[in-house]
Amino acid sequence: MNTVYNFGGPKSDGAAHDDPRQKDKTVTGGKGANLAEMAGIGLPVPPGFTITTEESVRYLNEGEAFSDKLRADVAAALTHIERAVGKNFGDPADPMLVSVRSGARVSMPGMMDTVLNLGLNDATVAGLADISGDARFAWDSYRRFIQMYSDVVLGLDHGLFEEAMEIAKEDRGYFTDTELSAEDLQELVGQYKSIVEEERGAPFPQDVHEQLWGAIAAVFESWDADRAKVYRRLNNIPGDWGTAVNVQAMVFGNMGETSATGVAFTRDPSTGERSYYGEWLVNAQGEDVVAGIRTPQYLTKARRVAAGADLPSMEEAMPAAYEELARVFDLLELHYKDMQDIEFTVERGKLWMLQTRSGKRTAKAALKMAVDMAGEGLIDEETAILRVDPMALDQLLHPTLDPDAPRDILAKGLPASPGAASGKIVLDADTAELWAGREEAVILVRVETSPEDIHGMHAAKGILTARGGMTSHAAVVARGMGRPCVSGASAVSINLVNRTLRIGDRELQEGDIITLDGAKGEIMAGQVPTIEPALDGDFGVLMEWADKHRRMGVRTNAETPADCRTARGFGAEGIGLCRTEHMFFDAGRISAVRAMILADDETGRRTALARLLPEQRGDFGEIFRTMAGLPCTIRLLDPPLHEFMPTRDEEFADLANDLGVAVDHLKRRADELHEFNPMLGHRGCRLGITFPEIYEMQARAIFEAACDVTAEGGDAVVPEVMIPLVATRKELEILRKLVDRAAEQVFTEKGARVEYLVGTMIELPRAALMAGEIAHEAKFFSFGTNDLTQTALGVSRDDAGRFLGPYVEQGIYARDPFVSLDIDGVGQLVEIAAERGRATTPEIKLGICGEHGGDPESIAFCEKVGLDYVSASPYRVPIARLAAAQAAL
Ligand code: ADP
Ligand code: MG
Ligand code: MG
Repeated sequence: MNTVYNFGGPKSDGAAHDDPRQKDKTVTGGKGANLAEMAGIGLPVPPGFTITTEESVRYLNEGEAFSDKLRADVAAALTHIERAVGKNFGDPADPMLVSVRSGARVSMPGMMDTVLNLGLNDATVAGLADISGDARFAWDSYRRFIQMYSDVVLGLDHGLFEEAMEIAKEDRGYFTDTELSAEDLQELVGQYKSIVEEERGAPFPQDVHEQLWGAIAAVFESWDADRAKVYRRLNNIPGDWGTAVNVQAMVFGNMGETSATGVAFTRDPSTGERSYYGEWLVNAQGEDVVAGIRTPQYLTKARRVAAGADLPSMEEAMPAAYEELARVFDLLELHYKDMQDIEFTVERGKLWMLQTRSGKRTAKAALKMAVDMAGEGLIDEETAILRVDPMALDQLLHPTLDPDAPRDILAKGLPASPGAASGKIVLDADTAELWAGREEAVILVRVETSPEDIHGMHAAKGILTARGGMTSHAAVVARGMGRPCVSGASAVSINLVNRTLRIGDRELQEGDIITLDGAKGEIMAGQVPTIEPALDGDFGVLMEWADKHRRMGVRTNAETPADCRTARGFGAEGIGLCRTEHMFFDAGRISAVRAMILADDETGRRTALARLLPEQRGDFGEIFRTMAGLPCTIRLLDPPLHEFMPTRDEEFADLANDLGVAVDHLKRRADELHEFNPMLGHRGCRLGITFPEIYEMQARAIFEAACDVTAEGGDAVVPEVMIPLVATRKELEILRKLVDRAAEQVFTEKGARVEYLVGTMIELPRAALMAGEIAHEAKFFSFGTNDLTQTALGVSRDDAGRFLGPYVEQGIYARDPFVSLDIDGVGQLVEIAAERGRATTPEIKLGICGEHGGDPESIAFCEKVGLDYVSASPYRVPIARLAAAQAAL
């Protein structure tokens, strides 16, 4: 098996060109596979080779040792590069230099380390100066190399080098790095080497092969660095993938005014607009753009003009190279059929491609690009549906800043990631995490972010940086996470000692509230009011396509008319779960509920229930009207009664007064109701069995409302009455008969009838196993996967927070089973119940109403099992519609 694959350069060298493994991301990583792919379609890619991910896994597993095979393969591959560029590695007269780059299967921006200009030493730097005729360039490359190598490979603090650089500039009265002359840089290299010797106790390695293997080892090992682990955890990336290593001939963007480097997207990653988008810097190397050391320039003239920037765009300053780049953009989109995120370098006027990948994008951009590309004929409708991550829609469904609300604008930065957020200022990632843990909304404010800040960015509602461009670390990561971000706000200065912030002439403290508008780049004082988003345009088009392609219905879990309206606006086709108990908590009703619970006997309960009946009838009436004939599943009372009990002394006193009984008496009744394990206690259908008058009242309220609303003349109401927590057929039989009796009574009284269904939730393992029996009494099953997960796993969902984290970290469960259905275990119960239920009653309606009904992976499972519908909370309805379509494709 190859440990190394070559790319670029002549194909006659007998190397593994066009081996399918070479273009397989699992083998050569995303970066390596795409470099090979670009070289394959004839684009200008500096020659190089990729060490496989398999080698990095082997290296880490086998005690960090290189195999003989790897050493031999790398030696051969180096020769491939040398031949292609006509220079030799370590040659003091005309040295070949390389970059050593990591590249995992999926892009982990900024997570892994890269070393540029490797192969420079005291001898080769002179050769490079001679051969290029540019001593400044040679010394600039050498100082960059020492700094990167020392940081990435030798583990020295990069701050030491930055400090030396700052002092060098200050001493000479310079503002920018580019003002340093060849002599200045040579002197700086001397200082850098002393720093290394002092810190490391040994000189900077001069042997180019030692340099190369040191860098390869560092890339391998960076896979297990803390920040890489955090990133993997946040993004569900398995720990055993490993990373590939790319060794590639250097091309130089720092060879003077005809050289440059840049990052670009073939379409705008924020809005999705079809126009080239990017940033570049003259006379610089790649990391300068990303690290935000200099503020980059716009790629296109239109963008520069729109932004009112002075420095020329690449289109204006280097028209020939720009034209070539634009041609490459179009070729790449046609080839990959997706928006590409590209790194390029221009060396003395010649364009070189250094990276391409499918670009990260905001939800809004993903939608627009999918719809546009389908319109352009680049992709078909099905592909467009599959292009949008359902979970990303969440970004579009939440409120945005009210455009008419007054804004106290403190300053403007770059619109790095759209969306709006308000929160308290925090000045470091740990504080962000700490405060967010206390349920506080925070905005992380940094000079610039680095991979060490990931956990804080995740905890924050929004991110603000004083430096960095649109492709800075902060911007890229924020867009990936869906967090609003304003970057490069140069008016912001941070004082970490006093924990204060100066924005323009205003002084703010850590903890003060600010608002960010990531789409406009605005920073505002205080909280700005928000409005609901408009869901038309591309969103509407994609949803229409999704609806056309999905098989399952999508309902919502809702119990208030407002939620019902929201859900219908999002396209819900009915209610899958209306939790009646939520209606019991209203201020006007809770005392009647308590009177019912605390009553000494049935008569007392009936008196209290009579007070609740009109209220419930009113609730159901409003819901039926709102849902206009769409199916509504209403669950009868489910939670343990003590949840409604008073807890504070004043509440007991008020209630005693209300009911005309003694406080002591009430407290005694409350004690009697206490349960050791209420989730497995007196709840669900057990309430209906022991206090039938409660379910009678609820059933009566449902049917009275259904008859009344139907009589009003709209669409006929077809209520679906759902009995919770059933374990046996007998339970359901008793309660179904109770509901049927209540229905008949109401129909007789009203002289009118409505259609209705009685069914049950399947949320206990016994019910799943006995589904064949239970189906004799049920017209529908709704999988209550919250309780089913809890009872199948024996894990209390209210207590799981304390131990499920480590469980997921150690891979015991791949994901939180309350978020994403445990398909292996709980999924089997669902499958068994569906199968057995259908065997008894082929036309039985099957749905899911747990939280999982809004989780794309769980929805894919529901499609596989053949459920009729999923039900999700209102804001998840569009996610479910899209996920259901993707599952059906
Ligand atoms: P990351 O994955 O963090 O972007 P890269 O491996 O892509 O890291 O490299 C970092 C920077 O170095 C990029 O901007 C890239 O363009 C530049 N770079 C990498 N290899 C070369 C090379 N052979 N010649 C010139 N620049 C390079
Ligand atoms: Mg890169
Ligand atoms: Mg339940």
